[in-house]
Amino acid sequence: MLLIACPHCGNRPETEFRCGGQAHIARPEAPSAQSDEAWAEYLFVRKNPRGVHAERWCHVHGCGRWFNALRDTVSDRFIEIYPMGAQPISELQSEARA
Ligand SMILES: [Zn+2]
Repeated sequence: MLLIACPHCGNRPETEFRCGGQAHIARPEAPSAQSDEAWAEYLFVRKNPRGVHAERWCHVHGCGRWFNALRDTVSDRFIEIYPMGAQPISELQSEARA
């Protein structure tokens, strides 16, 4: 079983977590000024890379708190876990945002 290191609870089984999708998506400052295409892209278009991906995770069956993680989608290995609102410090961060 895959263990995920919750920053608040420590290593816990993957079944206690839920992935919240891609991390670091900023809401546009003026939503009403966005074109329909730009707003639809903000709402629906997400990266789906093969490799390192920055994701939001929630420990839904534990502390209930959110955190960010860099995860390799090929190996399912968690490379880095970091707080919401922060940026990853790993040298792989540029790959995750590409
Ligand atoms: Zn937790």
